[in-house]
Formats: sequence, structure tokens, C-alpha cells
Amino acid sequence: MLIDSHSHLHDPQFFSTKEAEACIKRAQKIGVEKIVCIGTDPDDSLVARDFAAKHDGVYWTYGVHPEETSKQSVYDFSGVKFDKQLPVAIGEVGLDYHYKGYNREAQIKLFEQMLQLAVDNNLPVSFHVREAFNDFFPVVANFPKIRGVVHSFTDSKKVLKKILNETEFYVGVNGLATYSTLPTPPLERTLLETDAPFLAPIPHRGGTNEPAYIADIAKWLAEKLDLSIEEVAKTTTNNVTTVFCLD
Ligand SMILES: [Zn+2]
Repeated sequence: MLIDSHSHLHDPQFFSTKEAEACIKRAQKIGVEKIVCIGTDPDDSLVARDFAAKHDGVYWTYGVHPEETSKQSVYDFSGVKFDKQLPVAIGEVGLDYHYKGYNREAQIKLFEQMLQLAVDNNLPVSFHVREAFNDFFPVVANFPKIRGVVHSFTDSKKVLKKILNETEFYVGVNGLATYSTLPTPPLERTLLETDAPFLAPIPHRGGTNEPAYIADIAKWLAEKLDLSIEEVAKTTTNNVTTVFCLD
């Protein structure tokens, strides 16, 4: 069994309901039995929630992507109550300094609010961090109980080492790794993800990504680590089940 720990399958910007349902079928057929749909703003997170409620094996997260601060810089989450439909994580949240004109202060403030929401609801976090690890480490250090995954890791060996040695976070490996020289974490700290519709792995590079392609990423990683695909599947599935407390 494999799990896609990070996808945007619920988002109608990228997939119609019909396409999304066909993707779920193709994923299940190939052994990708669970899919985590990641929220990127308050409305999108509720779309993910409703999509998960309608589809077996689909889970959702609640989050506001750091780049949203370029549209709206101040947020209030005091009214957010999850009640019965609890997300499996808060995310994707974090810091992204890639595009010029980013609002560093607003991003840090939003990130801290989301971390507090995770603490208040005892949820893990799916982190999105790009070119911002210098701020990421001190911010998360103020929330010592936080668990989670650094999704789509694209930084240096040095930063990877720091994540592995100084935190207990898992690290998300996706299609990017199949066509780059990115450092990869040890298997026991790895989560597999597609980030569908983005970052399709080899041999689908350039096309629309979908959860079934987790199998291609698993195969690539197995070859790289000289392990069986079963071993990669077993360990990474165990990792994501643990961090997101999947049933
Ligand atoms: Zn994403």
C-alpha cells in the first residue's frame, strides 16, 4: 500500500470532480489507497474537507499558504472550530521568500497563527518552506511540541541535516527528486507525495501529476536506495500513517 501525503486533487482550479474521481480510481488500482488533500487558504481547505467527506481514503488539511499573504496580509482564526470533521493536519503553512515583494512580517505572523492552531487542536503540520529556512527554524523552535513534515524539500544538504538532527520532522519527497540532484532524507524520515497537479515525476515530467504517480516516485526511490519497492512502500506508509494519525 502507498499513500499520497500531499495533493491538490480537490481543487477545482486543477481537477473537475469527474477527473478527480478518475484519479482516485487509477490511484487505488495501483495500490495508492489513501490521499491527503492539502488546503491552501480557508475556502480551499473547506473544499478539501467536503471532498474528503465524499470519498473513502481521502483526508484533508486546513491551511493558508504563505504566498496568500500577498493577497491578504491579516488573518483571524479565532472563529475556526473543527468540531466533528477534524483535518489530519494544519497545512500547507510556512514561509516562502521565492517571489520578489513577499511580505516577510505577514508571513511569519500567519505562520505563528497556524502553528498555534495546530497546538490548540493537537494536530501535526505540513510545512511549505522555500528559501526561508533561516526564519523557519527560530519560528518553529517557539513551538516545541509541533510534529510534522517539511513538504517538497528543495534546499541544501546542510539544511536537510539540520532538519534531521535538530527536529523530529519528516521530509516530503516528490517528483522533483526524480529529475534533480536534491539531497534525500533517510527512508525512516521520508514521506512520499505528489503535490498533484504539480511536479510530475519521471516518466510523466511536464504533464499533470496525479496520486497514482506515487508509485513512480516509490520505484525511483527504491532504485536509488537499492531497496525493494515493498520496503519503500512499507516504511513510507508507516511514516505518513504515524505523523497524520491516519486510520
Ligand atoms: Zn502543495
